[in-house]
Amino acid sequence: MPFNINKELRDYLAKPGTKISLKKFPTNCPHKALSKPEAEKLLRTGLETLEKMQDKLYAHDQYSILIILQAMDAAGKDSTIKHVMSGLNPQGVRVTSFKVPSSTELDHDYFWRHYKELPPRGQMGIFNRSHYENVLVTRIHPELILQENLPEINTVDDIKQPFWDMRFKQINRFEKNLVENGTIVLKFFLHVSKEEQKKRFLERIDDPSKNWKFSYADMKERGRWDDYQAAYEEMITNTSTPESPWFILPADDKWFTRALLAAIINAEFEKLDFEYPTVTKDQRDQLMQAKAELLAETSQSNPKKKKKSKKAA
Ligand code: ATP
Ligand code: MG
Repeated sequence: MPFNINKELRDYLAKPGTKISLKKFPTNCPHKALSKPEAEKLLRTGLETLEKMQDKLYAHDQYSILIILQAMDAAGKDSTIKHVMSGLNPQGVRVTSFKVPSSTELDHDYFWRHYKELPPRGQMGIFNRSHYENVLVTRIHPELILQENLPEINTVDDIKQPFWDMRFKQINRFEKNLVENGTIVLKFFLHVSKEEQKKRFLERIDDPSKNWKFSYADMKERGRWDDYQAAYEEMITNTSTPESPWFILPADDKWFTRALLAAIINAEFEKLDFEYPTVTKDQRDQLMQAKAELLAETSQSNPKKKKKSKKAA
């Protein structure tokens, strides 16, 4: 039976209301039998559909799509974005990468800098890292929270479980508001194995053209691997909701990550089941009038073509 990616999309959904264990989700493609040409075709079809979807989204001008990508270092966020973008019209999509917050950003609540980058109606936005860093990197390094100068948080000892539970609730409220106002929020965790990260770090060290991608700080974060996995599990368990679910995509085989990502966005978009906006009778009459004028213009200004078509007839 031919491989059908759409049949298995739900396998990668972090089911809302269930406790998520990352170990139960694969980090590689479970279909090693899939040939490279088949894989490439899968991605190509996914990207073609994505392009059509983007066109409808723009024409409809009612919804926007927010795609959030989170991952450990070297899981392939950048290259996944590059591939997905290759199928899209650059006028209707924008990528924002969130780095360590500036002092101005820290002077506002942590949603502020993300809010400003949300996609307008008809458009897509891709967040490369996001407000989720505020329950991930800050969870591993709680001293970062002190920089936010929050009421009643004076030392790291003030940051206990209720603090994180409160943030999960804040995030769910934030995203619920977005969904209720027409933004489709899709969240993807690129699930890479520790072994594959090691391989990619070594490549970044050994290949001079990739040296710039490596930072010793990444090694330090790798040292906290288990803590990060636990932080991701708890975060996904608490924030995968029916309105804005998390998908846990295997990231060891990059082509599979890309194909799945495109297929999931398409499938979620199809659920909206909308078509190009229809025109009113007056608008249709105008279209017909314009068509008649344009056709008359062509036959007057291009007599040669007219002659040829006569001959052909
Ligand atoms: P690559 O995977 O290619 O290394 P990257 O997304 O890690 O890409 P970097 O410039 O290396 O990009 O790192 C951005 C850094 O910013 C990450 O270490 C991330 O944890 C940090 N960061 C992002 N948001 C926050 C935040 N709210 N608070 C603290 N640190 C943050
Ligand atoms: Mg990095």
